[in-house]
Order: sequence, then C-alpha cells, then structure tokens
Amino acid sequence: SHLSEKSSINELKSKIKELNENDLVDGILLQLPLPMGLDEGLLLKDIDPKKDVDGLHAYNLGCLLKKEDGPRCCTPAGIMALLSRNGFKVEGKRAVVIGRSILVGQPMALMLQAANATVTVAHSKTKNLASLTKQAEIVVVAAGQPNMIGKEHLSKGSVVIDVGIHRIIKTSGKASLCGDVRFQEVEPFVQAITPVPGGVGPMTVAMLLVNTVN
Ligand code: NAD
Repeated sequence: SHLSEKSSINELKSKIKELNENDLVDGILLQLPLPMGLDEGLLLKDIDPKKDVDGLHAYNLGCLLKKEDGPRCCTPAGIMALLSRNGFKVEGKRAVVIGRSILVGQPMALMLQAANATVTVAHSKTKNLASLTKQAEIVVVAAGQPNMIGKEHLSKGSVVIDVGIHRIIKTSGKASLCGDVRFQEVEPFVQAITPVPGGVGPMTVAMLLVNTVN
C-alpha cells in the first residue's frame, strides 16, 4: 500500500487494521523512517505480531529476548546468517556492537549472545571505543556515521560487519554510497569485511522474505 506522506495517524491505523484482517496478506512492514509528525511506536504496536515480518513488534522483541520462536529483526538476522554461511563461528568469540538502536544494535547484541558470543555494546557516550573494538574478534558497526571506523579501531583477525549506509556527494557532484567503515583502508588489514553496498543490505531483504515465508 502506498500512502501519501500527508496521511494522518488514523488513516495509517485503519490501513494496518485492514491488512491485519485480510487473510490474503501474510506480512506487514511499516517502511521507516516515517514522515515528520507520525509516531512509529503507535503504529508498530498495531501490527498483528504474527504478520510482523520486520520483527519489531514488542511481542516479537520479547520473544528474541526470551529465545522463543518468532520473526526476528531482519538486519541482525541477516548478519547472523552471513556469519554462519561464511564459516565464522560466533561461540566463545568477543564481539563489539557499535550502536544500540532497537532496529539494529540491541537485537544484534541479543542474537550474538544467544549464539554464545561475549558481547559489548558501544554507543555515542562510550569512551575509548578503539580500546574495546581492538580486542574484539567480531565488530558490528551500526553507528550511522560515515567512514567513522578505520584501521586504528581494529586488529588483524577482526571480522567486520558494516551496517551503515550513506549517500555521499563527491566534489565532482557524483553520488556514491559508503558505510560506517573506511573500506579501502580496512579491507586489506582485517580477516573479513562486508562491502557497502552489497553486504548487509541484501541480507536484510532476504530475511524479510524468510520471515514472510515462515
Ligand atoms: P540510529 O541512529 O538509530 O542508531 C545509531 C546508534 O549508534 C546509536 O545507538 C548511537 O548511540 C550510536 N552511535 C552514534 N555515534 C556513535 C559513535 N561516534 N560511537 C559509538 N556509537 C555511536 O541508527 P540505526 O537505525 O541503528 O542504523 C545505523 C546505520 O545502519 C545507519 O547508517 C542506517 O542507515 C544503517 N542501516 C542499514 C541497514 C541495512 O539493511 N543495510 C538496516 C538498518 C540500518
């Protein structure tokens, strides 16, 4: 459903209700961020948890916390799949997650803990970030700060997952995409790193389909 950005909260609520009640609809995703003035919290809780393919309903976040079945948040679920498909074992590893959002950082930390990693969550008030990340074997960067992480934050064995995605306008006027990590500088140094674009993004979409099919 494509709604106008001028839609009221009540119009959106009744659309969600209609989709909840429609047996032909298997999954509902509220595309975030919403236009100014619309409170996503009020709308996310209206989505039937069984149709919540984004895994962002409080009930489904509770299931993640309690290790009960349910749709999992797509970006961190995609990262877990990416690690395991590439043969990177998580159990017993030290992991640092940079960012503590409900969309990425928090559920990422829970999933890594559930897979028996020892997890530290860093955020905008964290001091000496590099001293934490240098000790980590897995570093998930979801700070939303372009080119923030470089070689000085990492060690040779690190596996780096770059969640950030930013549109940068170059001096030539051309637009390009970059992540939170300085890829060119870091890629030759670490054990493995995900590219931007073409890393975490497509995995997020794949997990959306996994949740829908399930
Ligand atoms: P957010 O802005 O909600 O959260 C950012 C987090 O990073 C906050 O917890 C903040 O405390 C922390 N942070 C900010 N600056 C920091 C710093 N200097 N040091 C340490 N921590 C810092 O963002 P979000 O929704 O979690 O998304 C993060 C990034 O990931 C964005 O660039 C977003 O576009 C991208 N993203 C990509 C996908 C994908 O599928 N590829 C999905 C979701 C988000």
